[in-house]
Amino acid sequence: MPHVPPASGVVRLVGATLIDGTGCPPLADSEVELVDGVIAYAGQRRAAQSLDGAIDLTGTFLMPGFVDAHVHLSMVPGDPETQRSRFVEEHVLETASVLRTTLLAGVTTARDLDGLTPGYRDAIARGSAVGPRLHLAISMLSPTGGHADPVRPNGSLPAWAVRPGMPAPGVVDTDDDIIRTVRELMRMGADAIKVSTSGGVGSPTDDPADAGLPVEHVRLVARLTAERGGRPITAHALTDAAVRVAVLGGAASIEHGYDLSDDTIDLMLQHGTVLVPTLSTLLRTLDPATTSPAALADREARQRRGLDSVRRAVAAGVPVALGTDAGVHPHGRNLAELARLVEVGLDPLAAIRAGTLGGARLLGLDTELGTVEAGKQGDLVVTVVDPLQNIGDLADVSAVRMVLQAGRVVKDLDSRMPAAR
Ligand SMILES: [Zn+2]
Repeated sequence: MPHVPPASGVVRLVGATLIDGTGCPPLADSEVELVDGVIAYAGQRRAAQSLDGAIDLTGTFLMPGFVDAHVHLSMVPGDPETQRSRFVEEHVLETASVLRTTLLAGVTTARDLDGLTPGYRDAIARGSAVGPRLHLAISMLSPTGGHADPVRPNGSLPAWAVRPGMPAPGVVDTDDDIIRTVRELMRMGADAIKVSTSGGVGSPTDDPADAGLPVEHVRLVARLTAERGGRPITAHALTDAAVRVAVLGGAASIEHGYDLSDDTIDLMLQHGTVLVPTLSTLLRTLDPATTSPAALADREARQRRGLDSVRRAVAAGVPVALGTDAGVHPHGRNLAELARLVEVGLDPLAAIRAGTLGGARLLGLDTELGTVEAGKQGDLVVTVVDPLQNIGDLADVSAVRMVLQAGRVVKDLDSRMPAAR
């Protein structure tokens, strides 16, 4: 599990309405007790216990820390040429600030799917940086000219691809390329392997409709990871054919999935494949002042098709995990994705579950994270917004009043914790 230094001592939180992440209905007037960073009790408030030293959360809503299964924490929107002219320390400190922003938004665990190196994860685990518990893909894999390949037709690199400290792109064409690259990623400490089985929207020389890695290469990745203790494979896949390749190759999850046929939805159900629809990126608005009318119309058509695809998958019962693709758009609004998930058919409790237990399961961390239950890590979020009534209001980070990670209070806007801590 990605570690963070645990708090020591006992913390008791009483009076909140508990939404525990399992999908069970909310529990009014709850009590959660943390001992050395781990949940020792979660349930109805115990009458016999005194209020001494307890933190009164009456009028608030208590949930598990959220898991964002698709972020790019080392990427920030903005002019890449300006970013390239910076010193490496400026990038590192900016990324440290993004890590903090993401944690304070209520995301206590995040999976970075390209761009973040293990140094950040390990610094957080040591306590020398503040941020979500991290799982990392480090780089993604695609063929030459595919979604992972930044090289332009004339052989040059765009400014965004040459930032200092970025991991090397995973450009792979042969079995040998795959074997070496996947083993190198595992040697570096990758927690997941990301493959592109379709092209992408922003890549220099391919198109979303293009094929990416073929099924035999996804299978080879699965074999290589199985040799070293196993790691979930996730696939960037925009077309129906790309999703089939990923599922048949052994991917645990599909990122995006905006063009699913009913047959492919059935295939995902048979394989238990999780969908991470990253609706925050699908539905982000483009600036009409700097975008051509043709590009705007194309985007609207893509959004309509994507929403229809995700809605049908949700209606069929495909498991969903929350992911935002933050970095492609501004960081710190991760919980805005919850309302998007409600738009595609999840009820608010199911959306919260997708953002907590759903993500923890996908990352293989559900024995320790994802719900508020005895024995699990004390990763908790306290809001003043009732998420079952106004889930869209969670997009505003000030609705998240308190965040705890392994029992340690990392955000406390109302100074509820005793001052001595
Ligand atoms: Zn992404």
